[in-house]
Amino acid sequence: MLAVRSCATLAEAAGLLSGDRQAVLLGGGTLVMRDVNEGRLTEGTLLRVTDPAFRRIEAGGARIEIGAGVTMGQILASRELAFLHAPARAIGGPAVRNMASVGGNLFAPAPYGDFTVALLALDAQVVVQAGFGSGRATPLEELLASRDRASPGLVTAIQFSRPANPGDFHFRKISRVKPKGLSLLSIAAHLPLAGGRVSQARVAYGAMAPTPIRARGVERTLEGKALDAAAIAAAQQAALEGCRPATDAIASEWYRREVLPVHLGRLLAGQPR
Ligand SMILES: Cc1cc2nc3c(=O)[nH]c(=O)nc-3n(C[C@H](O)[C@H](O)[C@H](O)COP(=O)(O)OP(=O)(O)OC[C@H]3O[C@@H](n4cnc5c(N)ncnc54)[C@H](O)[C@@H]3O)c2cc1C
Repeated sequence: MLAVRSCATLAEAAGLLSGDRQAVLLGGGTLVMRDVNEGRLTEGTLLRVTDPAFRRIEAGGARIEIGAGVTMGQILASRELAFLHAPARAIGGPAVRNMASVGGNLFAPAPYGDFTVALLALDAQVVVQAGFGSGRATPLEELLASRDRASPGLVTAIQFSRPANPGDFHFRKISRVKPKGLSLLSIAAHLPLAGGRVSQARVAYGAMAPTPIRARGVERTLEGKALDAAAIAAAQQAALEGCRPATDAIASEWYRREVLPVHLGRLLAGQPR
């Protein structure tokens, strides 16, 4: 049988999650409740978190913190987070966006995870609380690398630096069905320029591996270069490094590999999809 338990504090939820293998954190429930309704999840305890910190956005300064329970709708309502509106709008339709949390998106299987792709390109850290202790900040990339092997505990918040120039941040979701189709792939890039050259490029993909990944080859290729035709061509050459896309109902592995460099090139050149 399934039980539901409300936790008034993040510490209580983290403690219960660590102590009970059958406890499942309920974020917005867009995936968890689908598992319940379709009979895949029938035993254990669903943990609801009512702690206001779980849904708090602190975005007034240079360092941004988003509670893991913040919904895509909340992101879209925040003017300070305007640079994240494109990835938030990419998640499902309005009903899904009103429930789907940023924390839940970190755990959504491919081809989901579009918002997480944006967070990866922002070099985000996640605050993970395991047991009743205090939270520990860890790189998002590390959480994603071990996500499918072990439960990390409760993600309480996501932290990252505000891009100095929002125009340096780019996001694209490529899907066949507009506006609500699932990702054939998604790309996020943070490309700050220093003296006209890319400095500390961060590029991430969704649906090109079992979890969102950083495009290290592209980052290396762009570092220190002006974003001209030669640099873009070199980035396209390196585009597939580290990719392990799946064949699913949306696209084949072959197709994803074929079209990724094309879409990356268009994004880097500032061209429309
Ligand atoms: C119709 C539909 C369309 C969708 N379209 C998209 C799309 O276009 N793009 C996309 O990226 N996703 C999409 N999704 C997937 C999903 O809605 C989102 O990824 C969403 O962000 C998941 O958040 P949630 O809060 O609903 O997660 P939940 O369903 O509550 O949880 C999902 C998983 O994450 C775990 N979890 C949640 N929060 C935490 C936390 N803070 N700490 C630790 N574990 C946690 C849960 O225990 C569970 O295992 C879609 C889903 C549906 C049903």
